[in-house]
Amino acid sequence: MTTPLYLTPRLEDRLASLLDDPDFLHRLTHALGSPLNIVLPDQIAENVERFRAVHDRHRLSGTVYYAHKANRSSALVRRLADTPAHIDIASLGELQHALGSGFSPDRIMATGPKNPELLWLAARTGVSVNLDSVDELHLLADLVTRHRLPKARVLIRLSDFESSGTTVLTKRSRFGTPVGRIGMFLDALEKHRDSTELTGVAYHLDTIGLAEKATALEGCVRVMRECAARGFRPRAVDIGGGFGVDYLADGAQWEAYTSELTNAVLGKRPPLTWQGHGYGLRSEAGTLRGALGLYPAHRPVSGPRYLDELLSQSSASLGRPLATLLLENLHDLHVEPGRALVDQCGAVLARVLEVRDTPEGECVVRLEMNASDVSLEEHGVLMDPVLVRRPGAPSTAGTNPTGAYLIGNLCLEADFITRRMVFLPHRPEVGDLLAFANTAGYFMDFSADHALHQPIARKVAAYRTAGTWDWCLDENYWPISRTEESR
Ligand SMILES: *Cc1c(COP(=O)(O)O)cnc(C)c1O
Repeated sequence: MTTPLYLTPRLEDRLASLLDDPDFLHRLTHALGSPLNIVLPDQIAENVERFRAVHDRHRLSGTVYYAHKANRSSALVRRLADTPAHIDIASLGELQHALGSGFSPDRIMATGPKNPELLWLAARTGVSVNLDSVDELHLLADLVTRHRLPKARVLIRLSDFESSGTTVLTKRSRFGTPVGRIGMFLDALEKHRDSTELTGVAYHLDTIGLAEKATALEGCVRVMRECAARGFRPRAVDIGGGFGVDYLADGAQWEAYTSELTNAVLGKRPPLTWQGHGYGLRSEAGTLRGALGLYPAHRPVSGPRYLDELLSQSSASLGRPLATLLLENLHDLHVEPGRALVDQCGAVLARVLEVRDTPEGECVVRLEMNASDVSLEEHGVLMDPVLVRRPGAPSTAGTNPTGAYLIGNLCLEADFITRRMVFLPHRPEVGDLLAFANTAGYFMDFSADHALHQPIARKVAAYRTAGTWDWCLDENYWPISRTEESR
């Protein structure tokens, strides 16, 4: 076999310890089936503290809002309710879930597309509404007036920021109101002063670029001034999510993999993907075309560190850090991390059903799951699963690296868990498990469905008590310890 090209997942202590307990993982899948989702509620609490530490370092007030859409888990949301974090919900169901998990309305904000039922429940209970457009404001104000609801606290979400002087322009978004139309928005807010109270100005940009985000943040501060000039008293600048996750343990592996992938597309080495799939790259008469459509899986400046970097960027108009700009104006800073707040918070397990070699000599591993159960490929995140050998498997001296394509349980040509050859330290055998680590953010349950009447994964919460791993069904988890229960 060719030299293995590993993409080893980055594992912190808690997740590493879980994956280092094969007996526990095999007992769980034996009892609850495959695929199986595991979440680690204590990790999300730790992640909240890491974000809060950035606020503290820059002496900023404001709040961490968890973007609920990253994971449907109840355990994560209930554990979060027991921390200082707030929550960002984007559907009626998520709002009901947050309320029922222990979040009081003053700790909830509604973002994204909203229906009238969501707006009514938000206004009825006192949940903040992050308004997408003037139309949404009219709808909300109308509900408040007709149902005699308390004044609704609102933020306005803006888009299409432009920086003065430089050429940084933020990417077009289908959400938010172009900042150029702020005057119209403030006119409407003035008209609805009896039913709404403006508490903040917001953006959310799905981009990696720090410069783009700095432009938007500074744009928000300018809008805050305009609001004040018009007699409004908003306090918060809400900079949304998109802080990102560092998925890989080793940057050199990522460099080696992507350059070998390029060579494979150009035909300079044996293929690394099923039928020459190029992840956006292609060869035209020996010339490389296209662009690599992958998440930058090795991303050391991500999560809280990315926030720290953003706040340290110097403001184009002031020449001082953005954090200083916020501090001087006494603005609160709200952040809405989704993916980054569930970093290291879970894994998806799947049983190996079959291992076979194609006539071309390729190893194909069929798993008891399908591509929608762990949507790494769909999101362009390349990261190896961890092989969890079955208990009693003969101990193999040394390693026996194997390159394999992972396929799913759907009667569908396209059901590939990975369209690339994944290198594993040993050739898997029937009954082994593959653990897809660090998949709590979007990969675990965002796309899962019942195609072919296949079961969707059960979800459990795992936690350590007295040095060993314990678990319960996700829906049965509450953030109280066993000793408290029996007291
Ligand atoms: C999706 C979303 C987020 C979270 O984005 P991440 O990339 O997961 O951090 C935050 N705010 C809004 C409005 C969103 O739509």
